[in-house]
Amino acid sequence: MYPALMPNYNRADLAFTHGTGAWLHAENGRRYLDFGAGIATSSLGHGHKHLAAEIAAQAARVIHVSNLYRVPQAERLAARYVAASFADSIFFCNSGAEANEALVKAIRKAQSDAGHPERTRVICFEGAFHGRTLAMISATGNAKYLAGFGPPVAGFDHVPFNNLNALRAAITAETAGILVEPVQGEGGVRPAEPGFLAGLRAACDEFGLFLGFDEVQTGMGRSGKFFAHEWSGITPDILSSAKGIGGGFPMAAVFAREALAKALVPGSHGTTYGGGPLACAAGNAVLDVLLADGFLDQVNHTAAYLRAGLEALVSRHGQVFTELRGLGLLLGLKCAVPNAAAQTAAMEAGLLTVAAGENVLRLAPPLIIGRAECDAALDMLETTARRLKPAATEALAK
Ligand SMILES: *Cc1c(COP(=O)(O)O)cnc(C)c1O
Repeated sequence: MYPALMPNYNRADLAFTHGTGAWLHAENGRRYLDFGAGIATSSLGHGHKHLAAEIAAQAARVIHVSNLYRVPQAERLAARYVAASFADSIFFCNSGAEANEALVKAIRKAQSDAGHPERTRVICFEGAFHGRTLAMISATGNAKYLAGFGPPVAGFDHVPFNNLNALRAAITAETAGILVEPVQGEGGVRPAEPGFLAGLRAACDEFGLFLGFDEVQTGMGRSGKFFAHEWSGITPDILSSAKGIGGGFPMAAVFAREALAKALVPGSHGTTYGGGPLACAAGNAVLDVLLADGFLDQVNHTAAYLRAGLEALVSRHGQVFTELRGLGLLLGLKCAVPNAAAQTAAMEAGLLTVAAGENVLRLAPPLIIGRAECDAALDMLETTARRLKPAATEALAK
């Protein structure tokens, strides 16, 4: 019989019953250290008391009312996001792809409202990932994701990442804006080079374009700052956030400056679930933790400790792991063996990781981890490297 659950994912034969902190307990009786965090999403780990309690309390009061009415939980969360970021105004939705759709719509509409209806095109970057809707596979531009789905949505141009000359050469009279990840996550944990984001900001200011950041994966403390772009010293005009924003509860948001926010007038855009009381209870609970005194400092300390351990791992096992990259607690080990083999070997050693582009093994642990979890992960990666070494050496000899 055909699988009742549509087989559109390559799933590991592993199911979890519950979790505590960075650990997940599987049906097979083993426990696993979760350094994938549901793809950079379970930012507070598993079984987080405050998050679970806030969601449960809100669920018991009211789950959904719709945007036909005021939602005080959303008003409060939006005000807190505005206070914590460059943004003047927040739109809530439910997934990263949906946030990017709203971001692109806002850019196009703001250009149109400003007397430039011809400015509809958005420049994106090779190696990007922006989601799986029709428009977002077109923005992503990866042939593998587009294959078989007919004509891509028009209006997206692609240039090499970290190449300002190519970017400036691609700007035309029809360009409306730029969409970029400060660190390409799915693309292989590739950070923007120093000066690249500032160069994009300068080009946008010079040509009257809007700068959009996709911080679906890099935002909400993942990089050690509230948003990753804060490391660069420049700000975007609009930004998408999802993944860690609800600590695993489905939720997303668009952060916008007033010039873009005012383009989305009543009736122009919306979504049934967006900014509902339950999602916003999760969002507020996550924010309580992220903004608590010293939390992001702790993330940076942990990240520095983990990075040092991983650098030592790479220098010991260069035949297996050739390079360490990334920012904060979004780290990538470039592999000399297929990254799928590294992922499987790590899982056998008890560590959950996520594969990424450019043959990278991605580490995106919950932000609440400390040195003990880092030490445990480094031990498991040591085991992984030793197990993979014969295969790597053999491949080198060929
Ligand atoms: C995961 C991801 C998306 C898509 O988010 P979904 O919630 O799966 O739609 C978009 N952009 C980036 C950078 C991502 O990492």
